Amino acid sequence: MTMRAPPPHAERLDHFMARANTRYYANTPLLSDFITAPEISQVFGELLGAWAAMVWQSMGSPASFILAEAGPGRGTLMADALRLITRACPAMAQAMQVHLVETSPLMRAEQAKALRASLTTPPHWHDRLETLPDGPLILLANEFLDALPIRQFVHTPDGWNERYVADERFYLAPCPAPVLPDARPLEPDTLVELCEPALAIAAWLGQRLARTPGAALFIDYGHASTLTGDSLQALRHARPAAPLEAAGQADLTAHVDFTAFGAAARQAGACVYGTFTQGAFLRRLGLMERTAQLAAAAPEQAQALLSGAERLAAPEKMGHLFRVMALLSPGLPAPPGFEEGLPT
Ligand code: SAH
Repeated sequence: MTMRAPPPHAERLDHFMARANTRYYANTPLLSDFITAPEISQVFGELLGAWAAMVWQSMGSPASFILAEAGPGRGTLMADALRLITRACPAMAQAMQVHLVETSPLMRAEQAKALRASLTTPPHWHDRLETLPDGPLILLANEFLDALPIRQFVHTPDGWNERYVADERFYLAPCPAPVLPDARPLEPDTLVELCEPALAIAAWLGQRLARTPGAALFIDYGHASTLTGDSLQALRHARPAAPLEAAGQADLTAHVDFTAFGAAARQAGACVYGTFTQGAFLRRLGLMERTAQLAAAAPEQAQALLSGAERLAAPEKMGHLFRVMALLSPGLPAPPGFEEGLPT
């Protein structure tokens, strides 16, 4: 562990990560460094569209509601979800207003293009979730939370220190004890991570869902229980890279602490379901059946469809690394895919 004192121009890790990712997402066409679930198979977005339709019905089919997505990337998930909704549940398509939470102008342009054919009026964009208008809400978010900036603290025998960044190196500065979601005693020299923007989103959503009917589905790279250790990682040119090098040219992410996220949402008033593994969740929603149906209709694409489904659900691929959590308004029934079984 680096124990150098930071130079005056050092940045706190979360400030560095926010700056680097803002630059990265504003300048890099998505998928040049990593591929996400909706880009692997159209069935991913379709199943989330079906999930949203069932939740909308369980909310009493409100005549007007907000269908939102956070961090929509190229807009593929929403385009696939809207195709399913328009075909299977036209009354829902009539009732919805589509809102997208996206900071990158480059991504917004991609999303506008992807959704042009699916919507008669353009979607509404927001920089932050908190500016979504009031009203019944269904929110989807795939690989959004892992891009939010984290702070890292190291518990040493002499007290707490926080990680700073300067000149592509880490530094440690003494700091007051951080308020951690998990109060377990820590071994000396343990590193713990805190994603304050994610906790703020959980608290905001919890309050909103306690007041106004709605549901939110988060799918991300993460762990079910609060862990310690450094999970900051960078992908550049589709390969793992050193996180502090070439800021803004690599995608920086950290594992999502779903335990802390769920606890903050629960404390603010939401009902919390999961996490389940992505593989178990997608299978319960009918991943294999829908894939087989599409493969039968387009035999020349059968191989690609089947290998896509396998990549999304197989434990050794994305099936176990990715986890799913739902936040719901109290009083609504358990959402599809979360009805049975203990969280895995
Ligand atoms: N959900 C998409 C893309 C994931 S990449 C998919 O599954 O393919 C992360 C997305 O979140 C990008 O669109 C990025 O521009 C956006 N993003 C990153 N940080 C954000 C922030 N703080 N606020 C809003 N959007 C953000």
